[in-house]
Amino acid sequence: MPTLPEFAARHIGPRESDVTTMLQTVGYDSLEALIDAAVPQRIRASAALDLAAADSERAVIEELREIAAQNTVVTSMIGLGYYGTHTPGVIRRNILENPAWYTAYTPYQPEISQGRLEALLNFQTVVSDLTGLPTAGASLLDEGTAVAEAMTLMRRASKVADDAVLLVDEHLLPQSAAVLATRARSLDIELVTGDLSDPEALAGGRAVFGAIVQYPGADGEIRDWSTLAETVHAGGGLVTAAADLLALTLLREPAAWGADVAVGSTQRLGVPMAFGGPHAGYMSVRDGLERTLPGRLVGVSKDAAGHAAYRLALQTREQHIRREKATSNICTSQVLLAVMASMYAVWHGPEGLRRIAESVHAKARYAREALVAGGVEVTTRDFFDTLTVRADSAAVVAKALEAGINVWAVDAEHVLLSVDEIITNADLDAVLGAFGVTPVEVGEAIAWDDVHTRTSDYLTHEVFNSHRSETQMLRYIKSLGDKDFALDRGMIPLGSCTMKLNATTEMEAITWPEFASLHPFAPLDQTVGSRRIVSELSQWLAEVTGYHSVSLQPNAGSQGEFAGLLAIRSYHLANGDEDRRICLIPASAHGTNAASAVMAGLKVVVVKTAPGGDIDMDDLRAKIDKHRAELAAIMVTYPSTHGVFEETISDLCDLVHEAGGQVYVDGANLNAIMGLARPGEFGGDVSHLNLHKTFCIPHGGGGPGVGPVAVREHLAPHLPNHPLDREAGPESGVGAISAAPYGSAGILPISWAYVRLMGGAGLTRSAEVAVLNANYVAKRLGEHYPVLYAGENGLVAHECILDLRGLTKETGVTVDDVAKRLIDYGFHAPTMSFPVAGTLMVEPTESEDLGEVDRFIEAMIAIRAEMDDEGSREMLRNAPHTALELAGEWDHPYERMPAAFPAGPKAKYWPPVKRIDGAFGDRNLVCSCPPPEAFEN
Ligand SMILES: *Cc1c(COP(=O)(O)O)cnc(C)c1O
Repeated sequence: MPTLPEFAARHIGPRESDVTTMLQTVGYDSLEALIDAAVPQRIRASAALDLAAADSERAVIEELREIAAQNTVVTSMIGLGYYGTHTPGVIRRNILENPAWYTAYTPYQPEISQGRLEALLNFQTVVSDLTGLPTAGASLLDEGTAVAEAMTLMRRASKVADDAVLLVDEHLLPQSAAVLATRARSLDIELVTGDLSDPEALAGGRAVFGAIVQYPGADGEIRDWSTLAETVHAGGGLVTAAADLLALTLLREPAAWGADVAVGSTQRLGVPMAFGGPHAGYMSVRDGLERTLPGRLVGVSKDAAGHAAYRLALQTREQHIRREKATSNICTSQVLLAVMASMYAVWHGPEGLRRIAESVHAKARYAREALVAGGVEVTTRDFFDTLTVRADSAAVVAKALEAGINVWAVDAEHVLLSVDEIITNADLDAVLGAFGVTPVEVGEAIAWDDVHTRTSDYLTHEVFNSHRSETQMLRYIKSLGDKDFALDRGMIPLGSCTMKLNATTEMEAITWPEFASLHPFAPLDQTVGSRRIVSELSQWLAEVTGYHSVSLQPNAGSQGEFAGLLAIRSYHLANGDEDRRICLIPASAHGTNAASAVMAGLKVVVVKTAPGGDIDMDDLRAKIDKHRAELAAIMVTYPSTHGVFEETISDLCDLVHEAGGQVYVDGANLNAIMGLARPGEFGGDVSHLNLHKTFCIPHGGGGPGVGPVAVREHLAPHLPNHPLDREAGPESGVGAISAAPYGSAGILPISWAYVRLMGGAGLTRSAEVAVLNANYVAKRLGEHYPVLYAGENGLVAHECILDLRGLTKETGVTVDDVAKRLIDYGFHAPTMSFPVAGTLMVEPTESEDLGEVDRFIEAMIAIRAEMDDEGSREMLRNAPHTALELAGEWDHPYERMPAAFPAGPKAKYWPPVKRIDGAFGDRNLVCSCPPPEAFEN
């Protein structure tokens, strides 16, 4: 066996000797022999990965420093949805740089997620209070996609005719307008963009299902939209405000002037610009629309002891359950960034946020008065932070840059200036100098018409008014983090989610100012380093997948799916194949697949699963025959969501190609085949990857993510592009699918570092050990729980499904009971009931060492024994057990010790609440901070 690169030996859990032990258990002499038996020969990669040799952690950090130095950070006054902000140190270090927060999973197991659920509920409260709309979701991907989601929400909620149009404010942020246009095109929704001050004239007699306005406008102007709202409502339509939350601390909240929906970004609440992302988008809605909200929603419910507790609410809206009928395809969103933004509000409180907003406005006034006094025309009348100024834009941009400041050229004769939290008076004086004017005295008064002034309170809840010292803040963050189970405590064996190591060295560069402080629309020559990360990582991912081109713009797997399907649709259209709209999707597919297909304007036809778990090839043939002329694509996951390397994949690809369809290979499971097989070689035309699974970006408690889309050459002209960055994609592309040209650009250094640290051999070894770990678990647990599916030779891929259905029938113990009992043992549950109801899907990943994998196996074996013992079953049904319960009165038919310490005192994790009643919370929906008394008990 070749010696591993230094870092790879740290990234991979099992030692050499453990690998030997595990191979013996599985029944193979070498890793190579195991892989030869597991991965079908027909699909094996033609050559080893051609990547630069791995380097040490020190060398890679040095290289990153050189790349960072190729970026030039100047003061940004570009605005357009991205603003300078100060991330409080206590938040940066204790959340963004703290694995207790960044290595957590999406809070589907609420009993071990109370900390981040509370932070998300705070986030929802911030959004709901500032917009005035009662129900806010727990983050969306960015402002542009939030605007697009608002469009589809309004379409669903409005009863007006199918051919009604959407009115779009001509002052919508340009990137939002671009994302909106892409989405509207695939759904055949007509957009009418223009001056919304006279909506009836703009609509020209057509029915209107909704209107979207920017508040304040991209030009800086604050407009009163109350008449617009009345008119649109009278015609049966809805109104969405794309609003700036900081401005809303001073401006009349959208609900007050009639908006039904508010969307936007929370970036300027303490989250670095990071060359465009990740940041949390937001959405809030008026009463009656909560069931149409896209994305996740946190709500309050109660636990088995009657104590208030948080959990995800109204989950039946989500694509896991609704599939092609889902309200949206969003799965991974922006939890870590939402947590940061919410903590910024906790830290500053209502008076602090108001003070920051007032100071921003005062600085903008300072600039305006000097410009006007100096004879320069400012076309913005009522403004918060942004001015449109008439000037020779090329000259002003150049002069401002000499002074170290970026301003935005709207066109040859207009410049945009945006002021933020961190702009100083010296910056302002320098930019005024670029216009050839000097400062003047300014008064105290707010510079807008009274009608725009906010009169209502916000953030009155105790949590936003009680953490003013750093000690209090530190302890609040710590107290929440301590409630949660993340990778820093133990294994998170979630099938399909690939919860592997997020190494410290990989994380290091993301907070360096050279990467963190770049505006996404900064001039090309200031962003050379970040563009190098983009282009190198794209090339490496193309090499790993066997595809021709890669776009890093999609900021989650779901968005990569959407982009890939749009590429397919656009390719067919370019060939004159307008009728190719059918997308075949196996019954076992991830819910996002079907939801994305619908968004891309395709029709979903489900392909059955054969008894062995493979795709039913007869049904596939029949469906292809039936839909031959309209076949657009098939979407398959490889290895399958059943955790199996299907032998039939090449035949499947051939059949679909013969019928004129394209093959979409969902690459979320790439961790099983890196270096071993390449989707672009074995028949795929397009795939998305999940860098937050396979390539070590931490899951963040439910995001951020990066979902690159990779395509063969014929689809390359149909990749995403961006109106504000000509390097971001082909001119012939399908348009923008994320707000920023490179999506979550700020976290790309993580995956870049992973590949540099591992090299081709390290990545290949990762996949091999991931497969070994899964087969070891399957082998050892197979005696206690049936393993549902296996490929040729009885082997699984990188995950395995434990079938509990028979045991549930016999014993009454459900997957839920087992999942919750695992908490008592100090584990996060495996994936529950996906892709098969009543099962658990286990994915150990290569990063878990033999000791931890054995600890998990032993816990599962012990639970199996508890299932068999009638006396212990009650213990499973009551799990998890809290410290409070153990100290109190005890009326259970079993002892305290085995309940609390089933695996001994080591690695004990105490859940803060007992099992949570989700249905109760859905019946009594509370989605913002409840009064503190709710927690007294
Ligand atoms: C995770 C996953 C997705 C969706 O990715 P997100 O980043 O959560 O949007 C799609 N398909 C499969 C098989 C997955 O496991």
